[in-house]
Amino acid sequence: MVKEQHDHICWGGGHRHNMHHHLVLSSITAGYGEEPALEQISFEAECGSTLALIGPNGAGKSTLLNTLAGLITPWKGQILWNGAPIAGQRHEIAYLPQRNEVDWKFPITVRQLVEMGRYPAVGMWRAMRPHDREIVDKALRTLGIDDLQHRQIGALSGGQQQRCFLARALAQEAHILLLDEPFTGLDVPGSESLAALLRSLAQEGRLVIASHHDLSTAPRIFDRALLLRRRLIAAGSVSDVLTPTNLNQAFDRT
Ligand code: ADP
Ligand code: MG
Repeated sequence: MVKEQHDHICWGGGHRHNMHHHLVLSSITAGYGEEPALEQISFEAECGSTLALIGPNGAGKSTLLNTLAGLITPWKGQILWNGAPIAGQRHEIAYLPQRNEVDWKFPITVRQLVEMGRYPAVGMWRAMRPHDREIVDKALRTLGIDDLQHRQIGALSGGQQQRCFLARALAQEAHILLLDEPFTGLDVPGSESLAALLRSLAQEGRLVIASHHDLSTAPRIFDRALLLRRRLIAAGSVSDVLTPTNLNQAFDRT
């Protein structure tokens, strides 16, 4: 795990820069109807790292991301971020849903979308201050989309749209980035550049958690992995988690 110092991207900025923030899940059980989609999930993760959620279809990867994002209330268990319940710290989290769940026809420009990241800081109906505009400009530059800022998001490619959402997360100064299958539908160069971007966002002090279905690329992209199939099968470094025995158990291979 990455242990060296990193510059911190903290909302409000009130933390020491060499501090690692911990996400702690204890016995999380969550679901939709009668049956739990996730049972007794416990793990810890810290900022400055990338974590893959791996498991077959229906394993509960999206449910776990939705629970972390606060879109689903767990039936049991607790989630702590930096020692306090995560429910009061939603501004620390940015969530990028799976591509087919986003309405890309919504009429909004790239810049307007990224400016939405500042709403928690400035308030929805108050004017952006010069400081907020600088943060938005920097986010657009970091993601390499400043040339696109006056385009409609609906007119962009999938990879460009994803960059817009990541820029919004940077503008929000989000500390935890949750991404649902972000590599799906990207070509090889697109995947390579997203992988490099996620690693650099983590190195700057964020915690990046993404569901991921490509076992062959997981070790290059992620520091750690959780293997899920309703319950947690394994957690740890990617190579420790993705062993034949664990994968057989998760994917029901014989
Ligand atoms: P994954 O992302 O790993 O494919 P999900 O978290 O989407 O898995 O699904 C876990 C389980 O929860 C599955 O059995 C799925 O059918 C069920 N499920 C997911 N979303 C809903 C929903 N909105 N309503 C009811 N059941 C759901
Ligand atoms: Mg899913």
